Amino acid sequence: MTHSYDVAVIGAGIAGSVMAKSLADHGWNTVLFDRKAFPRHKVCGEFLSPESLTMLKKLGLREAVASLKPCTILRTSLILSRGKPLQITLPGTAWGVSRFQLDAVLHHAALRSGVQVQTETTVTSVKPSEQGYLIETKQHGDVHAYQVRAVIAACGGTGLPPFHNQHTSDVRSTQAAHLGVKSHYEGVDMGGVVELYFFEGGYLGLSPIEDGRVNLAALLERGKFPHAEKSILGLIEAACARHGKLSERLSTAQPVPGTQVAVAPVKLTRKPMAWYEMPCLGDAAMMLPPLCGDGMSMALRSAALCAPLASRYLKGDITLVEWEQAYTQAIHREFKGPLMWGHLLQGMLTVPYLPRMMFAAARYTPRLADKFVRATRLNEAEF
Ligand SMILES: Cc1cc2nc3c(=O)[nH]c(=O)nc-3n(C[C@H](O)[C@H](O)[C@H](O)COP(=O)(O)OP(=O)(O)OC[C@H]3O[C@@H](n4cnc5c(N)ncnc54)[C@H](O)[C@@H]3O)c2cc1C
Repeated sequence: MTHSYDVAVIGAGIAGSVMAKSLADHGWNTVLFDRKAFPRHKVCGEFLSPESLTMLKKLGLREAVASLKPCTILRTSLILSRGKPLQITLPGTAWGVSRFQLDAVLHHAALRSGVQVQTETTVTSVKPSEQGYLIETKQHGDVHAYQVRAVIAACGGTGLPPFHNQHTSDVRSTQAAHLGVKSHYEGVDMGGVVELYFFEGGYLGLSPIEDGRVNLAALLERGKFPHAEKSILGLIEAACARHGKLSERLSTAQPVPGTQVAVAPVKLTRKPMAWYEMPCLGDAAMMLPPLCGDGMSMALRSAALCAPLASRYLKGDITLVEWEQAYTQAIHREFKGPLMWGHLLQGMLTVPYLPRMMFAAARYTPRLADKFVRATRLNEAEF
């Protein structure tokens, strides 16, 4: 039996859940797929930037997220193994909240708007058909077919589902790939500050989240940890061993069982791609270096840009080509600057000795440092 919907969204992370909700709010019969069972832990710094909070407010979701009692964050502290930390006041209030809770809240919002949410369902192929697209999924070993008029890829940064038998993950070039790891901890007192530690082969962020816990997320160069123990906590210990202040910071910390996850490869240098046979949202479209802490706001913004165009296409007001052109232009216009500055910052902070000079310069010219940080952010006035 083939199921029929107006539109399918592949991936129920931040971008996909919000996109599906928005389409259902426009009155479209929407199905949302994700291969994982929810709630689930996910590799992420779990820092919702001030820009993310603005987007959540615009999308009518801020109150729902506030109900999770996120931790309020006002500052960030960049810490090298030697010298004083560099303190940066954020351009507004940020929140720390786990992806375990956040993604579940967004799913509930999508469900309440009438979205059919299909978890533990992997999209295995997307093929063009006379009425739009034929999608095949696998759920607990069973194959299902869906006929839809439009399809949207919000499947994160690890590869798109095969389109018309092409291996879509191959179209996105990459250089040195990274590995992301995360774990929640108890027993670390942080206040409203996010701490970022830099060391040979990567960096690690500590962010306070709900329930007095702290989220640890690290991005590690795979080749620089060849002898590290293969467990997630083993890799975290190996990272801590490279930064005395970080080891000290975590000396009283207790990992929360069941919260450890890893992701690989994280392809930081992947070319941005707003459209590949279908619109791509969030990390499927572009990868902002995680140290900018703004990937979730980009995911939210891309969904907010795409949803009205998708709705116009489904109504018959614009063609698929017009949708592609308008969406691609919008992504280029809004994300080009933050992506360029974000990659520059990532490159500069991971070169030996350069961060120390940058920190010294930032202390003497704090306005310049502020300007640099702002250049990596989305421009709220534009939306
Ligand atoms: C180490 C690290 C730290 C980070 N820290 C922060 C931070 O502090 N703040 C911030 O804003 N951003 C941060 N980010 C970035 C942020 O996590 C991402 O930008 C954000 O999750 C992107 O959301 P998304 O919806 O595009 O993708 P995701 O949240 O990755 O969701 C994609 C979903 O698609 C599903 N999927 C994939 N393929 C299929 C398929 N074939 N069929 C069905 N389902 C599929 C996956 O299971 C997944 O649930 C960090 C990233 C990393 C790696």
